This record gives sequence, structure tokens and C-alpha cells, in this order.
Amino acid sequence: MTADNRLLNYINGEWKPSAASDYLEVINPATNDVLGHVPLSPASEIDEAARAAAIAYEKWRRTPATDRIQYLFRLKNLLEDNFEDIARTITMECGKTIGESKGEMRRAIENVEVACGIPMMMQGDFSEDIAPGIDELMIRQPVGVCAAIAPFNFPGMIAFWFLPYALACGNTYIVKPSEKVPLAMKTIFELLEQAGFPKGVVNMVNGAKEAVDAIVDQPEVRAISSVGSTPVAKYVYSRGSANGKRVQAQGGAKNPIVVLPDADMEMTKRIAADSAFCCAGQRCLAASVALTVGDARHSFADAIKEEAASRVVGYGLDDGVQMGPVINKLSMERIERLIQKGVVEGASAVVDGRSVVIPGYENGSFVGPTVLENVDPAGSIAQTEIFGPVLGLIHVETIDDAIQYVNSGNYGNMACLFTNSGSAARKFRYETDAGNIGINVGVAAPMAFFPFSGGKESFFGTLHGQGNHAVEFFTQTKVVVERWPKEWSRQF
Ligand code: NAD
Repeated sequence: MTADNRLLNYINGEWKPSAASDYLEVINPATNDVLGHVPLSPASEIDEAARAAAIAYEKWRRTPATDRIQYLFRLKNLLEDNFEDIARTITMECGKTIGESKGEMRRAIENVEVACGIPMMMQGDFSEDIAPGIDELMIRQPVGVCAAIAPFNFPGMIAFWFLPYALACGNTYIVKPSEKVPLAMKTIFELLEQAGFPKGVVNMVNGAKEAVDAIVDQPEVRAISSVGSTPVAKYVYSRGSANGKRVQAQGGAKNPIVVLPDADMEMTKRIAADSAFCCAGQRCLAASVALTVGDARHSFADAIKEEAASRVVGYGLDDGVQMGPVINKLSMERIERLIQKGVVEGASAVVDGRSVVIPGYENGSFVGPTVLENVDPAGSIAQTEIFGPVLGLIHVETIDDAIQYVNSGNYGNMACLFTNSGSAARKFRYETDAGNIGINVGVAAPMAFFPFSGGKESFFGTLHGQGNHAVEFFTQTKVVVERWPKEWSRQF
């Protein structure tokens, strides 16, 4: 950061000021304080990073995987040593509670740990004598320069769904953080620098649309991992693919949870409220609509109202706070408008988080937990990704009606069922069209050694982030058919 709090880019092992003509303010959403200024870097700075990464790639891809992961082991230790500091930064720029920020960084570190297994995970295959004296092998090689485009809601974690695997597999990398929350990634890049990665292997360019356009068009960039709203995911996927790149693009979500009457309501209300209201509902795996089946209509509605109303809202660094602000004033106003639209369409705001004021944080962008009853299944609350602490309730008669409703939605990130019945759970798992399924779990976030699935309008591509999918995405296969002992071939 410069003296006037302007963020720098990290290109070819150096911290450099951007030549950007525009800078945006980075705001603490709980206080509205300005934390820094982020450059809207021009395309030329993506080009510079891509050239540096392309040069570094030639040596990095020839570095044995067992040596490459030593940098990741160092990074893991540095992330542990700076865990509290990064978590505080996430809370300050993004608004989530300190516990949520720590949870986010735990998953980031877990991905580094899993990627340290690359020497085994990227092994190839070998078949001897596919014909007499002829062998066939499949090897995995890195792809080249890869890039990540990140959203605002997990400033520290999202890049780690990709970056550790990409580097461990021998690729070089560019990260474009969200312009709303660039500070955690700045600290993480200071740690990547300390871990000693050779210059050009990891690069960070701040910015927004122009930087994204440059990534999707840059010829040196061979693979892109993008996470954001559905319009951006579609755009990056289509333009990147048209340019011949590998693209995996995670999009938005609208996650339904289904509550059967036999569910343990005490547990369900707590888990459902955590899903809908933690991170102020700004998670791609947040519950957004609850479908109550049969008698759950009343038992769940009563329980969730009480739970929502009791949540402590405030600044995420303060003790006892369960929910922080949303990302900014624009988002707060948009969420409040959507709640109003839902009411106009016939829903009742049985817990209403609009116009909430937190003493000491009057300038913050707070929306309290909100529960809307009798939501129109075809209306705005049911159909729009609200990305705020709003849970809409819809009643259906049977689990089949619920599954039909879930499968009729545009998105396919997550669906959850709360029940005591094993056969209902199996039916739901089997028939529901969503990439991540929770059974008595409200946020079915995969551990680092499973892919972060997602389908329909929530994902564009084939291979997801994390685990084996990431290894597949960041390697290209090469099949070699070999004949050596000529005399053997003659013999048959
Ligand atoms: P966003 O789409 O506004 O921004 C995402 C990234 O795209 C940012 O880096 C931004 O600079 C860039 N961008 C924004 N507008 C662009 C444009 N017109 N052209 C090119 N690039 C553009 O998303 P956000 O508000 O930062 O994040 C919230 C969204 O991300 C939600 O929709 C949420 O569901 C989604 N998300 C999805 C997942 C998932 O795994 N499916 C995970 C986290 C967040």
C-alpha cells in the first residue's frame, strides 16, 4: 500500500503501483470507514502479469512436484502464523463475524494441505503390452498460465479453491481479487512472497471489468476459474471458451431447504437460521427459501421466527455478534427494496430486518434477519438471488411437491432436507437436481478434498474447484504409445 493507502499490484515478484486512472474506495461495511483505495487496473497490467507468468512457467513446470509443494508447506505455515490477522482483515472489509472469517481461512488452508498431495494426485497411468512389446502411458502436464476471478463474499478463501492446485501441478498464476474486498488477498500475497515462490509464478492484479476482459482475451492465459454472479459467470465462460481457454465459472444461487414434519425442530431451526443468516446471507450456499411440508408449516415457521428475531446483529469484531452487515449501502438498499416487493406480492414480513440501527454503528450497512411468510412461489422473493439475510417460507403438501419445486428452479448450487426418515433422505439425494446436497445440514460446503459442485445456472463448465476436479482442470493429459524392443515385435 502507498502512503495515500493505494493498493499495489504484485507482478513478477514486485509490488507495483498501477497506472489506473480510477481508484475505488474500500469500505468497512460496519462503520463506512475507508480502509484503502483499489486501482481499476488497465488491461496492460494483466498483459504484463501474463507475460511474467509465461516466462516463469518454463522453469516452474520443470521443477519436480515434490519441490513445488515445499513452497505450499511454507505457505501453510505462514497462513497459520497470520491466521488471526487475515481473519480480522476479512471482517473489516467484508463485514462477516470474526468466527466466520476464521472458518473461511480454515477452508483456504485445508486446500493448501490437500494440494500438498499433488505428487500422488497428478500421477499418470501405465499399461504394459497393449500389443506385444508396446506400452501405453498417460501423463499429466500443467496447462500454462492460469487465472482466478474472485467475488466479494469470501475475500480469503475463493482463490484457494484453485491456486494451490494450479501451482502444485506446475502452472503459474494470476489472481484478480474482488475490487470490493482486496485487502485480505494483499496480505495473502505478502505471505506468498515470503514463501519464496520464484518471481512470476504468482501474480495479483487488482481491478474490475477491464481486468476481467483482459483475462478472458489474453492469449497467454490458458485456463480461467471464475466465481461470481450468474451473468458474470456466463460472460466469462462464453468469452473465455470462445478464445479457446479452459473455463470453470461458478455463478449465483437460490438455495431451497425442505423441512419435513418429522424433523427435529430444535436442531432444524438453529441450522436453518445459521444457513440463512450467517455471513448476512451473502453465501452462495445460504438457504434462501424454506419449503415446509405438511405439519412443518406451523412448527418450523414458529421456530424459525423466534430464532431469527433472537440473532445478535452488529460489528463482526465485537464479542457475541452473530451476524454482521451486508457488503455496502447499495446492497442494503437493494435487499430492502426486494423485501418490500415481496410484501407487495403478498408475503408477510413476520420478522422484518429493514431499517435496523446498530448503536455505535449508525453508518453501517445493516439488514437484520428477515423471515417472509406466504411467499409467492413465482414471485420475486422466491425467484431472485437476494444475497442478504432473508428467508422466504413456502408451503407444500408432500416431499414430491417440494422436489418438483426445487428442480424447477434456475439455479442448482445446493438443496437441503431436514428429516428423521432415511428413505426420505435417500429419495431427496437421488432425485434433487443440485450440485451440493445437505441432509440435516444447512450449508453443504464440500471439504477441500471434494469438488465444490454446482449445476444449472450456478455453474458453467465441467470440472469444479477443489480436490481431484482441480487436479484434472489444472493438468492436460498426454497419451504416449511406445515401442522399444524391436526384436519382440518381430517375434509375434
Ligand atoms: P460479481 O459477479 O459482481 O463479481 C464477481 C467478479 O466479477 C469480480 O471480480 C468483479 O470484479 C467481476 N465483474 C463484475 N462485473 C463484471 C462485468 N460486468 N464484467 C466482467 N467482470 C465483472 O459477484 P459479487 O457480487 O462479487 O459476488 C457475489 C456473487 O457471487 C453471488 O451471485 C454469489 O452467489 C456468487 N458466488 C458464487 C459462488 C459459487 O460457488 N457458486 C461462490 C461465491 C459467490
